[in-house]
Amino acid sequence: INCIDRNKPVILCIGHNVIPSTYIIDYMEEKGLEEEIEVCGICCTALDATRYSKDAKIVGPLSRQLMFIRSGVADVIVVDEQCIRLDILEEARRTGAVVIATNDKMCLGLEDLSHLSEDEIISRILREGAGLILEESKVGKVAVELARIVFRSRRKMKERCLPALEEIRALANRCTECGWCNRVCPNSFPVMESIVEAKEGRFEKLADLYKKCYSCGRCESECERNLPIVSMITKAGELYHTLEFKVRAGRGPIQDVEIRKVGAPIVFGEIPGVVAFAGCTNYPNGEEELALMAKELLERKYIVVAAGCASMSIGMWKDSDGKTLYEKYPGEFQAGGLINAGPCLSNCHVSGAAIKIANIFAKLPLEGNFAQVADYILNRVGAVGVAWGAMSQKAVAIATGFNRWGIPVIVGPHGIKYRRLYLSDGEDFEVYDRKLKKVMRIDPTPEHLITAAENFKECLCTIPKLCMRPNDGSRGRSMKVYHYVTLYEKYFNCMPPDLEKFIRTEKDIPFMLKDKILEYLKEKGWEPRKEIPQEPTLLY
Ligand code: SF4
Ligand code: SF4
Repeated sequence: INCIDRNKPVILCIGHNVIPSTYIIDYMEEKGLEEEIEVCGICCTALDATRYSKDAKIVGPLSRQLMFIRSGVADVIVVDEQCIRLDILEEARRTGAVVIATNDKMCLGLEDLSHLSEDEIISRILREGAGLILEESKVGKVAVELARIVFRSRRKMKERCLPALEEIRALANRCTECGWCNRVCPNSFPVMESIVEAKEGRFEKLADLYKKCYSCGRCESECERNLPIVSMITKAGELYHTLEFKVRAGRGPIQDVEIRKVGAPIVFGEIPGVVAFAGCTNYPNGEEELALMAKELLERKYIVVAAGCASMSIGMWKDSDGKTLYEKYPGEFQAGGLINAGPCLSNCHVSGAAIKIANIFAKLPLEGNFAQVADYILNRVGAVGVAWGAMSQKAVAIATGFNRWGIPVIVGPHGIKYRRLYLSDGEDFEVYDRKLKKVMRIDPTPEHLITAAENFKECLCTIPKLCMRPNDGSRGRSMKVYHYVTLYEKYFNCMPPDLEKFIRTEKDIPFMLKDKILEYLKEKGWEPRKEIPQEPTLLY
């Protein structure tokens, strides 16, 4: 599979509703234009379009939207719903591209042209630069024919949308070093310093920014010299980095046969956990950190599932052999497997897998039985969601949806802006033991339902802790403790400060770390618990 060829007419689809893209692909196939025209996507539409056609391509996650539009590669931009920049019309106009809105949730203030014939709509959009088509079946012909016409007229312009290096240098020399770009950048990136270096013809810092910046555009909106900072970053990134990556196709639900193979080791804690990377790309430090977290977990045999922009982000890192994680790890739901479930909506397949475990292994009926299934997952299934770049209301809804099923979630530093975390005080929890028929004080697992991590190291160390469950057997718990301790030592060079809470008896101590942990526990005055629940539940 090749990258997008900018020397062909390019149709870019943005959003979350794949229907308009399918009409475009159908029309191209009908007319035999697959070789002549490129169809690509940003956000979840991209993941769905590539499931529909092998010729469709993924540009990347939400964070790359402004950069790609500024690059001028797209001739026609088709937007459906959600995750679309509000300034898309102005940005597209600057590059000479035309915009087609296709959804009543995102009309962009455009007139509905659905009542016109396809040829009439094409003429109107050519005249006005944009139009709304709510009758999706008309989008196919309109987008494809527009792409062929617009491409001819802006062929040369495509190359000139971004400033050349010499122009970047000249632009940088207009910078007054007022520092406002740094002040307003949500991630406090050194924007001004990168521009100052570019004055001298050194573009490496701008190129570094390309890997981290999520192209919100705040820096340039505050720039007193109106410098096109995002375009400058994009050009430097284009020149300094390889922009070709591989992403495994979205695969949909986890199948019952897969659950049957791994359900027992997950429930008994022998597979250390299932980690779901969900949500948007509002990352504090670029996409790479997400991939590095996934890598660390895969090496430790966690099952990693990704959906939406997170699944694309994981593909945006390569090892020294030029391989992405998708090329290195299998796509099955198994220990050390890396699954791209599909678009954001596929996050439900993660909770779906946990529900299936409850259904298959505990034979819990699914109909009208929400509380019992959630109770089973909370107490037994070591699954954790990570919404590292949560941004939209949808991302917080996904996190809450996980929580309702008993799955804890870690959000990144920007997730704190939701102003809602579900934290425990870290003291003992109480459960009812169905076997011993009594209420019992137990270790605080899982410690929180929504918590935030300041940086990826903290997130990575919190994951094994939140995978712990009251029902863990000692073999499973010792494995989770092993990952908790070794990750902490790797990233913080010390033992976890709350380790004693999660070791119930000496049997929970991993053999390899026994001496070290016993010494730590002695210092903390730790006492083994007298009893461990056999069948923990909150429903009594
Ligand atoms: S566009 Fe990038 S550098 Fe500029 S403010 Fe946004 S994140 Fe920071
Ligand atoms: S805001 Fe503009 S003028 Fe001020 S330091 Fe940043 S790039 Fe320079």
